[in-house]
Amino acid sequence: MAEQIPLSEDASALDPALDAARNDHTHEVAPDLAYRRLGIVNVVFVGFPGAGDRNWVLIDAGLPRTGGFIRSAAEARFGKGARPSAIVMTHGHFDHVGALEALAKEWDVPVYAHPLERPYLDGSAAYPRGDPSVGGGLMALLAGLYPTRPVDVGRRLRSLPEDGSVPGMPGWQWLHTPGHSVGHVSFWRESDRTIVAGDAFVTTGQESAYDVALQEPEMHGPPTYFTIDWQDAEESVKKLAMLDPDLVLTFHGQPLRGPEMREALQRLARDFRDIAVPKQGKYLTEPRRAADGSAYEKP
Ligand SMILES: [Zn+2]
Ligand SMILES: [Zn+2]
Repeated sequence: MAEQIPLSEDASALDPALDAARNDHTHEVAPDLAYRRLGIVNVVFVGFPGAGDRNWVLIDAGLPRTGGFIRSAAEARFGKGARPSAIVMTHGHFDHVGALEALAKEWDVPVYAHPLERPYLDGSAAYPRGDPSVGGGLMALLAGLYPTRPVDVGRRLRSLPEDGSVPGMPGWQWLHTPGHSVGHVSFWRESDRTIVAGDAFVTTGQESAYDVALQEPEMHGPPTYFTIDWQDAEESVKKLAMLDPDLVLTFHGQPLRGPEMREALQRLARDFRDIAVPKQGKYLTEPRRAADGSAYEKP
C-alpha cells in the first residue's frame, strides 16, 4: 500500500464544542458551510443556518437509505421543510448518489454535474468496476462488490454552467478535477480560500475499514479502488494544491485547515506517485477515459 501523510489533530477544522451547541447533526467549518458524516461518506450543506426554503445547496447525496438523515440535518440547519435550490454533484459513485433519486424527486430540485459525469446520472452508463487488487484493507478488498450502475434523475439533470459558476452558490466556482472519475469536479471559494474537494483527494484512509472508523487526520490521494486514471488524478491534485487553500473539506474524513494541511497537500501533489498511487492495480496500466469511451460501461 502507498504511504499517505498523517497529520496532527491541530490540522483538524472540527469544532466539537460549537457543533454540540448547535446540535443539528452537522459539523460546521464556515458560517455557511457544514457537513454531515453518514458512516463512510460525508454530504455537504452550503447556506447559512435558518436560510429557509430554496436558499441552500446540497453537495452529493450519500449512501443508499440515508435520505432521512440528510433531510433531518437540512431541516435542523435551514428550517422545517426547507428544500435546497439545487443538488450539486462532485461525481456519481454509489456512496455519493445513494439518496439522490429520492431526494431530487421529493424536493423537486435540479441536479447539476459535469457533462462527462452525466451518463452515470441519467441511467445510460455504469462505472468501471472497483479494483480490489490495489490493496490497503477491507474496504479495498470488497471494492469489486460495490455498485457501479447508474442512477437516473431524468429531466432534473443539468450541466454545470460553462462559466465556472455554481448554481445557488455565489462566490464559488467549480473546477474539473478528473482521474477519480472522468467528470469529477471540486469547488473553490477564493474569499476564504476553501476547497470542497469531493474525492479528488481525501482525508482518511478510505481503503481500510479501520482508518474509516477512526478518521484520524490524514492527507490521502483519491480512494484507490475506484480511481481509473492516475495521470489525470495527479494533475487534479496539483491543480488544487496550487490554489493554496486555507480549508479543505473532502467527502471521506475530517476537514483540515492551516499550515500543516497546506504543507501536506503540497507534499501530496509533489510526491503523488509515491504517496497516492497504489503499487499495483489494473487501472495503473489500463486507464479508463472519456475520450475513447472506456470510462463508460454498459449498465
Ligand atoms: Zn468516488
Ligand atoms: Zn467517495
